[in-house]
Amino acid sequence: MPSRRKFLHSSAAGLAGLAAAPLAAAALPTAPAAGPPLVISTWDAGVAANQGAWQVLHGGGTALDAVEAGVRVTEAAQSCCVGLGGNPDRDGIVTLDACIMDHQFNCGGVAALERIKHPVSVARRVMERTPHVLLVGEGAQQFAVAQGFPLEPRQLSPDAEKAYREWLKTSQYRPVVNIENTGSHPVGPTGGANNHDTIAMLALDGQGRLSGSCTTSGMGFKMRGRVGDSPLIGSGLFVDNAVGAAAATGQGEDVVRMAGAHTVVELMRQGRSPQAACREAVERIAAIKGPKARDIQVAFIAVSARGQVGAFALQAGFSYALCTAADQRQLIAADHLLK
Ligand code: ASP
Repeated sequence: MPSRRKFLHSSAAGLAGLAAAPLAAAALPTAPAAGPPLVISTWDAGVAANQGAWQVLHGGGTALDAVEAGVRVTEAAQSCCVGLGGNPDRDGIVTLDACIMDHQFNCGGVAALERIKHPVSVARRVMERTPHVLLVGEGAQQFAVAQGFPLEPRQLSPDAEKAYREWLKTSQYRPVVNIENTGSHPVGPTGGANNHDTIAMLALDGQGRLSGSCTTSGMGFKMRGRVGDSPLIGSGLFVDNAVGAAAATGQGEDVVRMAGAHTVVELMRQGRSPQAACREAVERIAAIKGPKARDIQVAFIAVSARGQVGAFALQAGFSYALCTAADQRQLIAADHLLK
């Protein structure tokens, strides 16, 4: 039996040897054989967003440029769903979250960003022009302004204003599932207007590069400072070009607690199809939540490195948009777990 002293000695020698050995850079995943490009994104708004992404891909552009251009369409629309037209936090202020990730693990995000129209583009600047991955709040806004993004007026859209006034009557937070598909700022049964507003997009380009983006005004009437899954790499979005990419929408807290998008990608790494991986991740959330699973909606979309797509939701009503050369405007009702 080696004595403890000897073991320590030999481990130290081993470590010293390791330290002396030149460290090879970890190999980045190689791009798979190029196939036809595609874009997939969450909810009905994804159909228009996919068109923006498709123009980039069709012109031979990169998946990264495509996922930025695509969700900018939704941010610019300033509808209920994403961007400055979204519902405010409980103090009446719209705060935005976004992130972006490319095929080489480069990624950036912003959270609780105010008065900036295109948080996804700020997230990309964080990725490309800072040594960081996530900037929040005031710092994120300062960075955006320094990068030349205009500061928009602090005002609610007429719909958001109306929904907020309604919500103030009770000030109750009660999520209503699938509110994104209603296209308005509905008010819940108790007078609490409640929603989740997100577009998440994944694209595969003609060179076999995957990228993803996610942008949201988050949970309507959230606590000031609340951050959901959407700006968090590994929760709202994850891309590993050797395996695939995944993104989430729905109740952010429940996606964060099981590292949703990363979990989907890891399940694909273990051999699941994108559809099966999304389903298993949703099942995991359902198991964690128990009977409370009925109160929330969560859904995942995923693409494998070979261009196979899948999606799965906790509850009925989630649809995703798929854009390929054959059909650029597909809106597909996802399978769901709870009947
Ligand atoms: N995931 C977003 C959040 O929790 C909202 C949503 O997708 O509905 O902030």
